[in-house]
Amino acid sequence: MSEPQTMSVSATVSPAATGGLVEKTPLERYQPPAKPSLVGLSRAQLAEALASIGVPAGQRKMRVQQIWHWLYVRGARRFDAMTSVSKELRAMLDEHFTLARPEVVAEQISADGTRKWLLRLPGEHSLERPHEIECVYIPEPHRGTLCLSTQVGCTLTCSFCHTGTQRLVRNLTAGEIVGQIMVARDRLDDWVAAAQGGGAILTVPSAGGEAAKASQRMISNIVMMGMGEPLYNFEAVRDALLIAADGDGIAISKRRITLSTSGVVPNISRAGVEIGCMLAVSIHAVSDELRNELVPLNRKYPIKELLEACRNYPGLSNARRITFEYVMLRDVNDSLADAKALVKLLKGIPAKINLIPFNPWPGTRYECSDWERIEKFSEIIFSAGYASPVRTPRGRDILAACGQLKSASEKLSARERLALRAMAMTD
Ligand code: SAH
Ligand code: SF4
Repeated sequence: MSEPQTMSVSATVSPAATGGLVEKTPLERYQPPAKPSLVGLSRAQLAEALASIGVPAGQRKMRVQQIWHWLYVRGARRFDAMTSVSKELRAMLDEHFTLARPEVVAEQISADGTRKWLLRLPGEHSLERPHEIECVYIPEPHRGTLCLSTQVGCTLTCSFCHTGTQRLVRNLTAGEIVGQIMVARDRLDDWVAAAQGGGAILTVPSAGGEAAKASQRMISNIVMMGMGEPLYNFEAVRDALLIAADGDGIAISKRRITLSTSGVVPNISRAGVEIGCMLAVSIHAVSDELRNELVPLNRKYPIKELLEACRNYPGLSNARRITFEYVMLRDVNDSLADAKALVKLLKGIPAKINLIPFNPWPGTRYECSDWERIEKFSEIIFSAGYASPVRTPRGRDILAACGQLKSASEKLSARERLALRAMAMTD
């Protein structure tokens, strides 16, 4: 790298005029290590990195292609493994760069196969404690979904979300976001083996063959639903997802990548244009009054503006619907009138509605709706013509479910166990 980079964060504190805390202040600077990792650099940045160590211009494109393949198809962890790269260049790369991913501090495997990794990221300066984030893998019969974090903590303060209660916030770099995929593929042994890929560069999967190819891999889908608000770390998230979708590398189709936002309206269309991934919107309430309380960002971008941005989402069609997430909070947003109003609100938007049973955490004032209520709510949505799958809270025994990332251990109540059993039957 020619110069050390600093990365400023995109979130700011909003004025108190909004009538309460909408956002917290994030830490301002990320200091890269003296010896940077090549993980997460775009092809252009990789070429720059090669230039900085004297690789002649005429060779750079070919070298970038080789390194890209070793990194993102074969999962090389040492420059030594890159046998198609000259020994001399390998030594030079080793002197100036690393292939480091975030450090795995702990791995937990749930009874249902869900895995959770606790990852350590460097702090801003040597005296500060390192940051920790989590990354979750959810296997299902025909797909495997990786849930990525985009920030340490979150500047937003949704009242039902445990991540929102964390004080410290820092944006992840593109390398740290891609690094989560690398770690997961390392731990799942999900790289293309030499026997499959040979030493040659694999061909780009064709559109028709994509699904079949993806289903053979442990990780076939990515959701940006871990810690943080992805649209408040737009550039890093975009750069990371473009790497994840690159057909010569990690090769996860953009249709299999879903970004979930609490409603950062100005960046919604950017996500469509600059990333082209699928969109999920955390709606959670049908009136501004309640949504202001549950998702305080609503005071800045109210429901009407949010839905307008959804209607205009680039590439939206019946085949490419927006997923609306709705957390089921007992006696808060779960009346049958709410369900009817939700259907009315989303009229005209190609949509799916994802009901999420609330995952309680120590100290929360909310409870999960009763299972019967969730079912009735879901029936209303279903009879209005929407698919309304209830998202099964997988990995409960390791606290990997939504909004529980980073929470202390707790027991399930009898009612929750019942709900879980019922959900498992409908899954
Ligand atoms: N910040 C983004 C993405 C991360 S949160 C967003 O808010 O969309 C991923 C999903 O989990 C969101 O729909 C969020 O509302 C939901 N969630 C957060 N806390 C939860 C909890 N305790 N129980 C159930 N869902 C929760
Ligand atoms: Fe942040 Fe999403 Fe949690 Fe809200 S729900 S605090 S936006 S992570």
